[in-house]
Amino acid sequence: MFTDTHCHLTDDYCSGDELDNVIARAHDAGVMRLICATADPNDILPSIKIAESHDNIFVTTGIHPEYAGINPHEYLTESVLTNPRVVGIGEIGLDYHERDDNRDAQIKLFEEQLEIARKYDMPVAIHTRDAEQDTAAILTGVRGVMHCFTSNWELAKTMLDRGFFFSASGILTFKNANEIRETFAKIPNDKIVIETDSPYCAPVPHRGKTCEPFMVCETARVLAQIKNLQIDELETILEQNTLNLYPKIKQ
Ligand SMILES: [Zn+2]
Repeated sequence: MFTDTHCHLTDDYCSGDELDNVIARAHDAGVMRLICATADPNDILPSIKIAESHDNIFVTTGIHPEYAGINPHEYLTESVLTNPRVVGIGEIGLDYHERDDNRDAQIKLFEEQLEIARKYDMPVAIHTRDAEQDTAAILTGVRGVMHCFTSNWELAKTMLDRGFFFSASGILTFKNANEIRETFAKIPNDKIVIETDSPYCAPVPHRGKTCEPFMVCETARVLAQIKNLQIDELETILEQNTLNLYPKIKQ
């Protein structure tokens, strides 16, 4: 079985009855566990509700840099963070690609959420885009995962030294993603997890469609090739890594 370690289950493609269909398609493909990440703070409580009504769904709760200016303490409350279904804090980070004029506000939101992660001793799921230097400078004293990792080897090396995991998304399967495949070839096997980031970044051969958790199998297939592993060997490794990254799943 596989875990999709980062998907968004509160988006339109999961509305109404569709959520059950999305989960059923994932199960049919052997993707038995889903970790729902939040970006919009208003998705935090709905995500927890989904997890509480499905055995194999967990949540990472966080506020994406596009919501810079918000006070995270209003949303990442004690009751949210101590909920047994909430296994980490994310997605949080910096995105200078989308917006470059509010760096200070993004950094403030990021640092406040990292402080919460340290206080509750929770792993973090990091979004970083065109912000490698500031990310490396700020991201200390916590453990976690570089979600949908597409940055260069230099940042990979820095974060490996700090014990971080790296999550491969559908981008790993893209024709023009040689550099990312080379980076994942170099990352040690025990530091890799996989995700879809649904509804974004559908892998080959589903490009152009709405991404769904079942598609994480395509990322696994390419990762197995890169690592020269049988798919069942990779499954075992990824399962252990997922539990090491988010130990609260086992409790
Ligand atoms: Zn995401």
